[in-house]
Amino acid sequence: MDELLASLVAAAIQFSGLPPIETLPPVQAMPYQAMLVEICADERAAVPMLLAQYRQCSEQHRMMTTVCDELKVEADSHAQCMQQRGLVAAYLIEQRRIVYRNDLNLDNDADNSFLVHEYVHALQNQYFGEQMFETCQGVMAAEEQAYAVQQKYLRSRSQLLRVGDRLRLVSCRDIH
Ligand SMILES: [Zn+2]
Repeated sequence: MDELLASLVAAAIQFSGLPPIETLPPVQAMPYQAMLVEICADERAAVPMLLAQYRQCSEQHRMMTTVCDELKVEADSHAQCMQQRGLVAAYLIEQRRIVYRNDLNLDNDADNSFLVHEYVHALQNQYFGEQMFETCQGVMAAEEQAYAVQQKYLRSRSQLLRVGDRLRLVSCRDIH
């Protein structure tokens, strides 16, 4: 397992051109629902604050509460987050660790390519800092690079799987 993970990190470094990471993020397999709970924990923590901001904003803009709608949408993001489908793995930025679905077969290169993708996020986090993930444009840039690296890795392993198509379907409004 350690050997496999080391080779996946090496691929992430090679194909991204990002500098190696000092401390490797731990990886953990878990059932899909448990993964969602982990991934959505940040959103859940932010809900009370966002609702308070929304109330404050609405009071300040009584005539034009639509300017506050964004905050309301943000506050609903935990529920939306828990309804996500099709996730395979995730890099938890604040905890600097990777979770992945326990039905992945890591001996399969198509499956383990998703860990390469998440390792790229870990490299980005170290090199660019957490602020990369705090704006929509930053997240989009991070995802584009991670998918490009994953795709190069897949090609190097003669895998036909195409990844990143979902990215073209989302706009900055959809990403939290
Ligand atoms: Zn990603």
